Amino acid sequence: MNDTMKLEFPAISENEPFARGAVAAFCLRLNPTLDELSDVKTAVSEAVTNCIVHAYAGDDYARSERLVVIECMAEKETLHIRISDRGRGIGDVAQAVEPFFTTSEEEERSGMGFTIMQTFMTTFHLESAPGAGTVVSMSKRFGSPQGEAAPRRGALADAL
Ligand code: ATP
Ligand code: MG
Repeated sequence: MNDTMKLEFPAISENEPFARGAVAAFCLRLNPTLDELSDVKTAVSEAVTNCIVHAYAGDDYARSERLVVIECMAEKETLHIRISDRGRGIGDVAQAVEPFFTTSEEEERSGMGFTIMQTFMTTFHLESAPGAGTVVSMSKRFGSPQGEAAPRRGALADAL
C-alpha cells in the first residue's frame, strides 16, 4: 500500500504555513533534497493561498463552508498532491493559467501562482467549474541527478 495523508482546514491565512509545513514533513519519507523540498513548499503555498484569497471571496460562503482539502500520496520516488476547495471555481481555466493573468486588483497579486506551480512541480493539472470549486493536482518526482550531492533527510528535518 502507498503512503497517504489527508488534511482539511479552514481557508484562512494562518493555515498557509501549516499546510506548507505539513506537506513538507510528509515528503521527508521520499528523501528529497533541500531544493526539491523547497519547490514543493512553494507550489503548495501558491495553491493554498489561491484557496484563501480567491475560492471563497465575497460573502456567499459561511465560515464553516470555507474549507481546503489536501491529499498526498507517496508512490516510489514521486509525491502526488491534490489541493481542492468547494468555492466559486474558475470559468476559463486556460486563461487562469496564463502567466500574469489575475482577477485581483490587489497590488501583491501578480498572476503568477499557477505558473509557479507548473514550473516547480513535475506535473500540474487544474480542474475547475464555476460554483463547484477547484482542484489542483500536482506531482513531484524526487531524485534528479544534480540533487545527489545535496543535503538530505537528516538536515531537512531541522529546516522545516
Ligand atoms: P498570485 O498568485 O501571483 O498572487 P493570482 O492568485 O491572481 O496572483 P494565480 O494564482 O495564477 O494568480 O491565479 C490566477 C487566477 O485564477 C486568479 O486571479 C483567480 O481569478 C483564479 N483562481 C486561482 N485559484 C482559484 C481558486 N482556488 N478558486 C477560484 N479562483 C481561483
Ligand atoms: Mg495565486
